[in-house]
Amino acid sequence: MGQTKYISVIVPLKLDWIPTYRTDLNLPAGTRVYVSMAHKQYVGVVAGETARPDVPESRILPVDGIADLPPVSLTEIRLWQFVADYYMCTIGEVYKMAYPALKTATEEIQARTRIRLETRLERLKEKFEKARNDTTRSRYEAEIRKTVAELEGQHDSGLPGADPELTDAQKAADAEISQSFAEGKIALLHGVTGSGKTEIYIHEALKTVRNGRNVLYLVPEIAISRQLEDRLRIFFGERLLTFHSAETAVHRRDVATKMRNGSYVLLGTRSSLFLPHHDLGLIIVDEEHDSSYKQDNPAPRYNGRDTAVMLGNICHSDVILGSATPSLESLYNCETGRYRLISLPVRYYGGGETEIEVIDTIAERKKKGMRGSFSIKLIDRIRKALSEGGQVILLRGRRAYSPVVQCDTCGDIPRCPHCNVSMSYHKTKERLVCHYCGYSEPFTGKCHVCGGSLQPLGAGTQRIEEEAEKLFPEARIARLDSDTGQDPSIIKAFAKGETNILIGTQIVTKGFDFEGLKLVAVLQADSLLGQQDFRADEKAMQLLEQFRGRCARRGGKGLFVIQTAKSSHPVYGQLQGSSESGFITGQLSERKEFGYPPYSRIINVIIKDHSEKRLDYMAGILYKKIAGEMEALGPFAPAIDKVSDLFIRHIRVMLPKDRTLSDKKEKLRRTIAEFEKSMTYQGHVTVDVDPV
Ligand code: ADP
Ligand code: ZN
Repeated sequence: MGQTKYISVIVPLKLDWIPTYRTDLNLPAGTRVYVSMAHKQYVGVVAGETARPDVPESRILPVDGIADLPPVSLTEIRLWQFVADYYMCTIGEVYKMAYPALKTATEEIQARTRIRLETRLERLKEKFEKARNDTTRSRYEAEIRKTVAELEGQHDSGLPGADPELTDAQKAADAEISQSFAEGKIALLHGVTGSGKTEIYIHEALKTVRNGRNVLYLVPEIAISRQLEDRLRIFFGERLLTFHSAETAVHRRDVATKMRNGSYVLLGTRSSLFLPHHDLGLIIVDEEHDSSYKQDNPAPRYNGRDTAVMLGNICHSDVILGSATPSLESLYNCETGRYRLISLPVRYYGGGETEIEVIDTIAERKKKGMRGSFSIKLIDRIRKALSEGGQVILLRGRRAYSPVVQCDTCGDIPRCPHCNVSMSYHKTKERLVCHYCGYSEPFTGKCHVCGGSLQPLGAGTQRIEEEAEKLFPEARIARLDSDTGQDPSIIKAFAKGETNILIGTQIVTKGFDFEGLKLVAVLQADSLLGQQDFRADEKAMQLLEQFRGRCARRGGKGLFVIQTAKSSHPVYGQLQGSSESGFITGQLSERKEFGYPPYSRIINVIIKDHSEKRLDYMAGILYKKIAGEMEALGPFAPAIDKVSDLFIRHIRVMLPKDRTLSDKKEKLRRTIAEFEKSMTYQGHVTVDVDPV
C-alpha cells in the first residue's frame, strides 16, 4: 500500500472532461480498471497521474479494482487524443469505439478463457526462463507449446510465398515509393486500374515484415477485403489477420491477442486503425479516395485515410495511399510537398482499353428503343458479350424493387411517417420500406388516401434483376446490394465465372478484380450525379472511372455503357475526353476560387429536434453565435430534412487551412457548449469535421 494517488481515467462515455479517481496502487497509464460513474460501473483506462482535484475528498471515488485485461498502449491513447481533438469529440467516445464492450455472457466467458490462457502462458515463460535444469525446462517447454496451441493464434516462423515479380514499370514506381519514405514523405500511388498496385503493396509489405515490423492494410469495404484475403494469404500465411467493424468484440480480442503475440499483416476496414498496433512499419490505404473511409455516425466521425496518416505519424511508419482516382485532397497535398505523387500509368496485362458508349435514354424512348430499364442498344451489347463468354456487371444506384410507388388515381406517393422521404417497394418481402430509418409496412397495392392502385415508379436493383431474367433467360444472374448483404459467396461465384451477370449498387464499382468481365453498364446514371454538392463531379468521376476499371482487366477490349437522360452532362464528356489532368486542374482551381476544401476546412454543425419550430429558432441563435466568431453559412435544411422523427438543420463552418485551425476548432467547441448550456439545449448538436 502506497500513499493515495489521483489518476485520470478514460471512461467509455461522452464526457468533455476526464474524471479523476483515487488509488493506493501504482497504476501506470494504459492499465484497465473498474471505476464507477453515476452509479454504474465501467472498464476504464488509466490516462495518467493527475493533481488532486479541488473538491472534498469524499467526492473523489476510489478505483474499484484492476480489470484482468491487457493494458492499452500509449500509442493507442495518443491516437485517441488526436482523433478526439481533430474530430471534435471526446476521448471517451473514441475509446468506446476502439474497445467495444462484450455483449453476451458467452462472449464474457470466451474472453475470460483467453485471458486465463494468456496469463498462464506468461507464467510458464517466466518459469521456463528461471528453470535450472534441462528436464524442467523441457517440461515447461512442452507446456508452453500446449498453451500456445490452445491460444491458436501462433504464427509460422517463415513467410510462405516468394516475392511477386514486379514489372519494370512497377519496379520504377516502387523505387519512387522507397524514395519518398527516405524523404519522410507519404507516397501517393496514382496507378490506373489494373496496373498492379496490389502487387506493389505486397512487395512493400513483405519488405516491412522481413525487417521485423508490422503492416496495416486498409480497404474501404469488407467485400473487397474478402476478395483480397486469399491473394494476400499466399504471401503472408498465418501472419495475415483480418478485421472489420461488423466483427464481434470477441473476435476483436482474438485479433488483438494475435497481434500482441507475433508479427502481423492486418487487412481490414477503417476500424482496424484502433486495434492495439505496435512496431507498425507500414500503413497502406488502398482506394484512398473512397468516401466509405469516413464514419458518419456515431462519433468519432473520422476519416480512415486521414486517421491513418495520424497513426503513421505517431508510430513513425511509412504510409502509402493508393488509388486510380486520387482525391483532390491528396493531390493537393502532393502540390504542397507533403506527399509525393507516384504515377503508374500502364496496365499489367497491357491494352485493356474500355471504350465508353453514352446512350441517351430520352432519345431512345422517342424512337421506341427502350424495353423497360434497358435500351435495345444495351440489350444487344449484353447479348454479344455473353455470347462471347464474357461477364457483365450492371450498376443501378438504388436498391429495392422500385424506389417510389404512386397511386394511379390520385397521384399520392406513400412517405415514411418518420422521415421526409418516399418509401421503397421491396417485392420479395411485399413491403414498403424506409431506407433511412428502417420503418416498413405491408404493401397492399392499395392507396391509403383514395383506395386506388399503387404502381411502382422507376426501377431499383431488384426490378432490374427481374427484367434481366426475362431479357437474358440463359444467363445466370446474381445481385449484390445491402439487401443481399455483402455475401462473399456472391462475389466468389462471379469471380469463378459461375454467374454471368452481376447487378448491384455502388459496391460493384469498387476494387474487385474479375477476370472475365467484358461489359459494365450503368442504368440511370443521372441518379449518381444528383447531389447538389461541390464534390458531386469529383465523386461521379471517381465512381464512373472506378467502374470502368473493373472491365477487361486481362487485356482485350472492354465496353462501358452509360444510359442517361442527361447525355450532355460535362462529367460524361470529361470521362470520354480522358484528359484526367485537365479535369483535376479544373476542379482544383474551382475549389480555390470558392474557398472550398482542400483550400479550406469545412465543419458541419448538425442540429436535430423533434419540434421543427424550436429547431429553426435554436438553429438561428446558434448560427448567429458562430457567425460572430468565424465564417459560417446557414442554417439550412439538408435534402432529407427529417429522419426518425427528428428534423435536421445544418450550419456550415469554413475555416482557413492555417495554424489557427485548432484554435478555431476550440473556439467553435466552446461556442457550442456555451450555447447548449445557456439555452439548456443539450444533446441536439453534433459536429462533423471534414464531411464528405
Ligand atoms: P490494381 O490494384 O492496380 O487495380 P491489381 O494489383 O489488382 O491492380 O492487378 C491487376 C491484375 O494484374 C491482377 O490480377 C494481378 O494479379 C495482375 N498483376 C499485376 N502485377 C503483376 C505482376 N507483377 N505479376 C503478376 N501478376 C500481376
Ligand atoms: Zn423512415
